[in-house]
Amino acid sequence: STMAVAAADKEQLFVRYYQQGEDEAYLYKIRLIDEFKSALESENSPLFMNYQPKLNINTGKIDKLEALIRWINSEGQFVNPEMFVGLAEKAGLIVTLTRWVILHVIQQIAQWNQAGYRFQVSINLSAQDIQHEQFVDYLLTTVEKYEVEATQITLELTERDLAENEGLVATRLNHLKTLGFEISVDDYGIGQSSLAKLKSLPVDELKIDKCFILTLDQCAKDQDIVSSTILLGHKLGLRVVAEGVENKESLALLKEFNCDYAQGYYLSKPVTADKLIQWYDDYEPII
Ligand code: C2E
Ligand code: MG
Ligand code: MG
Ligand code: MG
Repeated sequence: STMAVAAADKEQLFVRYYQQGEDEAYLYKIRLIDEFKSALESENSPLFMNYQPKLNINTGKIDKLEALIRWINSEGQFVNPEMFVGLAEKAGLIVTLTRWVILHVIQQIAQWNQAGYRFQVSINLSAQDIQHEQFVDYLLTTVEKYEVEATQITLELTERDLAENEGLVATRLNHLKTLGFEISVDDYGIGQSSLAKLKSLPVDELKIDKCFILTLDQCAKDQDIVSSTILLGHKLGLRVVAEGVENKESLALLKEFNCDYAQGYYLSKPVTADKLIQWYDDYEPII
Protein backbone atom coordinates (compact mmCIF):
# COMPACT_ATOMS: atom_id res chain seq x y z
CA SER A 1 0.00 0.00 0.00
CA THR A 2 2.98 2.32 0.46
CA MET A 3 3.67 1.71 -3.18
CA ALA A 4 0.10 2.63 -4.12
CA VAL A 5 0.39 5.84 -2.09
CA ALA A 6 3.71 6.65 -3.73
CA ALA A 7 2.18 6.08 -7.15
CA ALA A 8 -0.81 8.28 -6.33
CA ASP A 9 1.51 10.99 -5.00
CA LYS A 10 3.59 10.79 -8.10
CA GLU A 11 0.54 11.07 -10.26
CA GLN A 12 -0.65 14.11 -8.33
CA LEU A 13 2.74 15.65 -8.60
CA PHE A 14 2.69 14.99 -12.30
CA VAL A 15 -0.77 16.54 -12.63
CA ARG A 16 0.40 19.56 -10.68
CA TYR A 17 3.49 19.96 -12.85
CA TYR A 18 1.41 19.54 -15.91
CA GLN A 19 -1.07 22.22 -14.82
CA GLN A 20 1.75 24.53 -13.90
CA GLY A 21 3.15 24.05 -17.39
CA GLU A 22 -0.26 24.79 -18.86
CA ASP A 23 -0.62 27.91 -16.72
CA GLU A 24 2.78 29.11 -17.82
CA ALA A 25 1.93 28.54 -21.45
CA TYR A 26 -1.36 30.33 -20.91
CA LEU A 27 0.26 33.29 -19.17
CA TYR A 28 2.90 33.45 -21.87
CA LYS A 29 0.18 33.69 -24.50
CA ILE A 30 -1.69 36.40 -22.58
CA ARG A 31 1.52 38.38 -22.23
CA LEU A 32 2.27 37.90 -25.92
CA ILE A 33 -1.20 39.10 -26.94
CA ASP A 34 -0.78 42.20 -24.76
CA GLU A 35 2.61 42.91 -26.23
CA PHE A 36 1.32 42.36 -29.73
CA LYS A 37 -1.54 44.80 -29.13
CA SER A 38 0.95 47.52 -28.22
CA ALA A 39 3.11 46.56 -31.19
CA LEU A 40 0.15 47.23 -33.49
CA GLU A 41 -0.39 50.66 -31.94
CA SER A 42 3.25 51.66 -31.56
CA GLU A 43 4.60 54.44 -33.81
CA ASN A 44 8.07 52.99 -33.78
CA SER A 45 6.70 49.58 -34.60
CA PRO A 46 8.53 46.32 -33.89
CA LEU A 47 6.48 44.88 -36.76
CA PHE A 48 7.67 44.96 -40.35
CA MET A 49 7.03 43.26 -43.65
CA ASN A 50 9.39 40.93 -45.42
CA TYR A 51 9.05 40.19 -49.12
CA GLN A 52 9.85 36.96 -50.91
CA PRO A 53 10.25 36.93 -54.71
CA LYS A 54 8.29 34.63 -57.00
CA LEU A 55 10.07 33.59 -60.17
CA ASN A 56 8.11 33.63 -63.41
CA ILE A 57 9.33 30.30 -64.79
CA ASN A 58 8.33 31.21 -68.36
CA THR A 59 10.19 34.51 -68.59
CA GLY A 60 12.89 33.97 -65.97
CA LYS A 61 11.88 37.29 -64.41
CA ILE A 62 10.75 38.32 -60.97
CA ASP A 63 7.41 40.09 -61.28
CA LYS A 64 5.60 38.95 -58.12
CA LEU A 65 6.34 38.95 -54.40
CA GLU A 66 4.70 37.63 -51.26
CA ALA A 67 4.49 39.95 -48.25
CA LEU A 68 5.11 38.18 -44.92
CA ILE A 69 4.83 39.86 -41.53
CA ARG A 70 7.64 39.84 -38.98
CA TRP A 71 7.66 40.76 -35.30
CA ILE A 72 10.66 41.27 -33.04
CA ASN A 73 9.41 41.16 -29.43
CA SER A 74 10.68 43.14 -26.43
CA GLU A 75 13.36 40.51 -25.82
CA GLY A 76 14.74 41.05 -29.29
CA GLN A 77 13.49 37.68 -30.55
CA PHE A 78 11.63 36.95 -33.76
CA VAL A 79 8.23 35.49 -32.92
CA ASN A 80 7.00 32.76 -35.27
CA PRO A 81 4.42 34.42 -37.55
CA GLU A 82 2.23 31.35 -37.75
CA MET A 83 2.06 31.46 -33.94
CA PHE A 84 1.25 35.13 -33.44
CA VAL A 85 -1.11 35.30 -36.43
CA GLY A 86 -2.97 32.37 -34.84
CA LEU A 87 -3.04 34.18 -31.50
CA ALA A 88 -4.25 37.37 -33.16
CA GLU A 89 -7.08 35.37 -34.74
CA LYS A 90 -8.15 34.00 -31.35
CA ALA A 91 -7.74 37.34 -29.56
CA GLY A 92 -9.88 39.27 -32.04
CA LEU A 93 -6.88 41.24 -33.32
CA ILE A 94 -6.61 39.80 -36.81
CA VAL A 95 -8.62 42.51 -38.55
CA THR A 96 -6.34 45.15 -37.00
CA LEU A 97 -3.26 43.13 -37.94
CA THR A 98 -4.43 42.77 -41.54
CA ARG A 99 -5.17 46.50 -41.79
CA TRP A 100 -1.64 47.16 -40.61
CA VAL A 101 -0.32 44.78 -43.27
CA ILE A 102 -2.51 46.23 -46.04
CA LEU A 103 -1.46 49.80 -45.24
CA HIS A 104 2.26 49.00 -45.09
CA VAL A 105 2.28 46.82 -48.20
CA ILE A 106 0.34 49.36 -50.26
CA GLN A 107 2.63 52.20 -49.13
CA GLN A 108 5.59 50.03 -50.13
CA ILE A 109 4.13 49.22 -53.55
CA ALA A 110 3.49 52.95 -54.15
CA GLN A 111 7.08 53.74 -53.24
CA TRP A 112 8.38 51.00 -55.55
CA ASN A 113 6.12 52.14 -58.39
CA GLN A 114 7.56 55.64 -58.11
CA ALA A 115 11.09 54.28 -58.16
CA GLY A 116 10.28 52.27 -61.32
CA TYR A 117 9.92 48.83 -59.71
CA ARG A 118 6.64 47.20 -60.55
CA PHE A 119 5.59 44.05 -58.70
CA GLN A 120 2.35 42.26 -58.06
CA VAL A 121 2.32 41.58 -54.33
CA SER A 122 0.46 38.87 -52.39
CA ILE A 123 -1.09 39.61 -49.01
CA ASN A 124 -2.14 36.77 -46.69
CA LEU A 125 -5.64 37.02 -45.25
CA SER A 126 -7.49 35.13 -42.55
CA ALA A 127 -11.05 33.88 -42.74
CA GLN A 128 -12.21 36.69 -40.42
CA ASP A 129 -10.79 39.37 -42.74
CA ILE A 130 -12.73 38.33 -45.77
CA GLN A 131 -15.95 38.08 -43.74
CA HIS A 132 -15.46 41.48 -42.11
CA GLU A 133 -17.94 44.09 -43.20
CA GLN A 134 -15.42 46.87 -43.83
CA PHE A 135 -12.72 44.74 -45.45
CA VAL A 136 -13.36 45.62 -49.10
CA ASP A 137 -13.87 49.26 -48.20
CA TYR A 138 -10.60 49.52 -46.31
CA LEU A 139 -8.64 47.81 -49.07
CA LEU A 140 -10.19 49.94 -51.79
CA THR A 141 -9.79 53.22 -49.89
CA THR A 142 -6.14 52.42 -49.25
CA VAL A 143 -5.24 51.54 -52.87
CA GLU A 144 -7.02 54.69 -54.03
CA LYS A 145 -5.29 56.87 -51.46
CA TYR A 146 -1.83 55.68 -52.55
CA GLU A 147 -2.72 55.42 -56.23
CA VAL A 148 -1.90 51.74 -56.50
CA GLU A 149 -3.75 49.58 -59.05
CA ALA A 150 -5.97 46.86 -57.57
CA THR A 151 -4.40 44.47 -60.11
CA GLN A 152 -1.09 44.84 -58.25
CA ILE A 153 -2.57 43.05 -55.23
CA THR A 154 -3.22 39.33 -54.87
CA LEU A 155 -5.10 38.10 -51.82
CA GLU A 156 -4.04 34.71 -50.47
CA LEU A 157 -6.56 32.59 -48.58
CA THR A 158 -6.17 28.98 -47.54
CA GLU A 159 -8.69 26.27 -48.35
CA ARG A 160 -9.75 26.36 -44.71
CA ASP A 161 -10.40 30.12 -44.85
CA LEU A 162 -12.56 29.57 -47.93
CA ALA A 163 -14.59 26.83 -46.24
CA GLU A 164 -16.09 29.17 -43.62
CA ASN A 165 -19.34 30.96 -44.35
CA GLU A 166 -19.20 30.04 -48.03
CA GLY A 167 -22.01 32.24 -49.34
CA LEU A 168 -20.58 35.40 -47.83
CA VAL A 169 -17.02 34.52 -48.86
CA ALA A 170 -18.18 33.97 -52.46
CA THR A 171 -19.93 37.34 -52.49
CA ARG A 172 -16.84 39.09 -51.13
CA LEU A 173 -14.48 37.40 -53.57
CA ASN A 174 -16.71 38.24 -56.51
CA HIS A 175 -16.81 41.87 -55.41
CA LEU A 176 -13.01 41.97 -55.03
CA LYS A 177 -12.60 40.36 -58.46
CA THR A 178 -14.75 42.99 -60.17
CA LEU A 179 -12.57 45.66 -58.51
CA GLY A 180 -9.47 44.06 -60.06
CA PHE A 181 -7.89 42.28 -57.07
CA GLU A 182 -6.64 38.74 -57.67
CA ILE A 183 -7.38 35.73 -55.49
CA SER A 184 -5.00 32.91 -54.65
CA VAL A 185 -5.66 29.63 -52.84
CA ASP A 186 -2.71 29.21 -50.46
CA ASP A 187 -1.37 25.90 -49.12
CA TYR A 188 -3.33 24.03 -51.78
CA GLY A 189 -3.53 20.28 -51.29
CA ILE A 190 -3.36 19.96 -47.51
CA GLY A 191 -6.82 21.21 -46.53
CA GLN A 192 -10.21 20.26 -47.88
CA SER A 193 -8.93 20.73 -51.47
CA SER A 194 -12.50 21.00 -52.59
CA LEU A 195 -12.76 20.95 -56.37
CA ALA A 196 -16.27 22.35 -56.02
CA LYS A 197 -14.72 25.50 -54.59
CA LEU A 198 -12.39 25.85 -57.56
CA LYS A 199 -15.49 25.61 -59.70
CA SER A 200 -17.63 28.13 -57.83
CA LEU A 201 -15.16 30.74 -56.56
CA PRO A 202 -13.45 33.36 -58.73
CA VAL A 203 -9.90 32.12 -58.13
CA ASP A 204 -6.88 33.25 -60.20
CA GLU A 205 -4.05 31.28 -58.65
CA LEU A 206 -3.32 27.96 -56.96
CA LYS A 207 -0.37 27.85 -54.59
CA ILE A 208 0.70 24.27 -54.11
CA ASP A 209 1.63 23.69 -50.47
CA LYS A 210 5.31 23.45 -49.70
CA CYS A 211 4.95 19.98 -48.20
CA PHE A 212 4.77 18.61 -51.78
CA ILE A 213 7.54 20.87 -53.06
CA LEU A 214 10.23 20.59 -50.35
CA THR A 215 10.87 16.94 -51.28
CA LEU A 216 9.81 17.15 -54.93
CA ASP A 217 13.22 16.14 -56.27
CA GLN A 218 13.30 12.99 -54.13
CA CYS A 219 9.75 11.73 -54.14
CA ALA A 220 7.90 10.20 -57.09
CA LYS A 221 4.54 10.62 -55.37
CA ASP A 222 5.16 14.34 -54.89
CA GLN A 223 6.05 14.56 -58.57
CA ASP A 224 2.78 12.85 -59.55
CA ILE A 225 0.71 15.05 -57.23
CA VAL A 226 2.42 18.26 -58.31
CA SER A 227 2.38 17.58 -62.05
CA SER A 228 -1.31 16.63 -62.01
CA THR A 229 -2.23 19.61 -59.83
CA ILE A 230 -0.51 21.88 -62.35
CA LEU A 231 -2.48 20.24 -65.17
CA LEU A 232 -5.70 20.66 -63.22
CA GLY A 233 -4.95 24.30 -62.48
CA HIS A 234 -4.18 25.01 -66.12
CA LYS A 235 -7.34 23.22 -67.29
CA LEU A 236 -9.27 25.57 -65.04
CA GLY A 237 -7.40 28.58 -66.42
CA LEU A 238 -5.48 29.22 -63.20
CA ARG A 239 -1.91 30.33 -62.60
CA VAL A 240 0.00 27.76 -60.57
CA VAL A 241 2.67 28.67 -58.02
CA ALA A 242 4.94 26.26 -56.16
CA GLU A 243 6.14 27.41 -52.72
CA GLY A 244 9.07 25.88 -50.87
CA VAL A 245 11.45 25.48 -53.82
CA GLU A 246 14.78 24.82 -52.12
CA ASN A 247 17.00 23.44 -54.87
CA LYS A 248 17.63 23.57 -58.60
CA GLU A 249 16.47 19.99 -59.20
CA SER A 250 13.00 20.88 -57.91
CA LEU A 251 12.95 24.03 -60.01
CA ALA A 252 13.91 22.01 -63.11
CA LEU A 253 11.05 19.57 -62.43
CA LEU A 254 8.59 22.45 -62.02
CA LYS A 255 9.72 23.85 -65.35
CA GLU A 256 9.26 20.44 -66.94
CA PHE A 257 5.73 20.28 -65.46
CA ASN A 258 4.96 23.77 -66.88
CA CYS A 259 4.46 25.34 -63.48
CA ASP A 260 4.07 29.12 -63.80
CA TYR A 261 5.84 30.46 -60.70
CA ALA A 262 8.39 29.25 -58.18
CA GLN A 263 8.91 30.66 -54.71
CA GLY A 264 11.42 29.41 -52.16
CA TYR A 265 14.77 29.61 -50.43
CA TYR A 266 16.55 28.48 -53.62
CA LEU A 267 15.77 31.93 -55.02
CA SER A 268 15.62 33.96 -51.84
CA LYS A 269 14.31 33.83 -48.30
CA PRO A 270 11.77 36.52 -47.38
CA VAL A 271 13.78 39.73 -46.81
CA THR A 272 13.16 43.39 -45.95
CA ALA A 273 12.03 45.75 -48.72
CA ASP A 274 15.51 47.29 -49.03
CA LYS A 275 17.25 43.93 -49.23
CA LEU A 276 14.70 42.72 -51.77
CA ILE A 277 15.59 45.60 -54.09
CA GLN A 278 19.33 44.98 -53.65
CA TRP A 279 18.75 41.32 -54.44
CA TYR A 280 16.52 42.17 -57.42
CA ASP A 281 19.04 44.61 -58.91
CA ASP A 282 21.77 41.93 -58.74
CA TYR A 283 19.54 39.09 -59.88
CA GLU A 284 20.79 37.08 -62.86
CA PRO A 285 18.14 34.79 -64.38
CA ILE A 286 18.68 31.25 -63.10
CA ILE A 287 16.34 29.61 -65.56
P1 C2E B 1 2.32 31.05 -46.05
O1 C2E B 1 1.43 32.16 -46.47
O2 C2E B 1 2.07 29.73 -46.66
O3 C2E B 1 3.80 31.57 -46.36
C1 C2E B 1 4.83 30.78 -46.85
C2 C2E B 1 5.76 30.37 -45.75
O4 C2E B 1 6.74 29.49 -46.28
C3 C2E B 1 6.54 31.56 -45.15
O5 C2E B 1 6.74 31.30 -43.77
C4 C2E B 1 7.88 31.46 -45.89
O6 C2E B 1 8.95 32.05 -45.19
C5 C2E B 1 8.03 29.96 -45.98
N1 C2E B 1 8.92 29.56 -47.08
C6 C2E B 1 9.10 30.15 -48.27
N2 C2E B 1 9.98 29.48 -49.03
C7 C2E B 1 10.39 28.42 -48.30
C8 C2E B 1 11.32 27.36 -48.54
O7 C2E B 1 11.95 27.24 -49.59
N3 C2E B 1 11.47 26.44 -47.54
C9 C2E B 1 10.79 26.53 -46.37
N4 C2E B 1 11.01 25.59 -45.44
N5 C2E B 1 9.91 27.52 -46.10
C10 C2E B 1 9.71 28.46 -47.06
P2 C2E B 1 6.53 32.44 -42.67
O8 C2E B 1 6.97 33.75 -43.21
O9 C2E B 1 7.12 31.91 -41.41
O10 C2E B 1 4.96 32.51 -42.53
C11 C2E B 1 4.24 31.41 -42.05
C12 C2E B 1 2.76 31.62 -42.22
O11 C2E B 1 2.30 32.70 -41.40
C13 C2E B 1 2.33 32.00 -43.62
O12 C2E B 1 2.28 30.87 -44.45
C14 C2E B 1 0.98 32.61 -43.36
O13 C2E B 1 0.02 31.60 -43.17
C15 C2E B 1 1.22 33.32 -42.03
N6 C2E B 1 1.55 34.73 -42.30
C16 C2E B 1 2.74 35.32 -42.55
N7 C2E B 1 2.59 36.65 -42.77
C17 C2E B 1 1.26 36.91 -42.66
C18 C2E B 1 0.47 38.10 -42.76
O14 C2E B 1 0.96 39.20 -43.06
N8 C2E B 1 -0.87 37.96 -42.54
C19 C2E B 1 -1.45 36.74 -42.26
N9 C2E B 1 -2.76 36.69 -42.07
N10 C2E B 1 -0.74 35.62 -42.16
C20 C2E B 1 0.60 35.69 -42.36
MG1 MG C 1 0.85 32.77 -48.32
MG1 MG D 1 1.51 28.77 -48.15
MG1 MG E 1 -0.28 29.34 -44.60
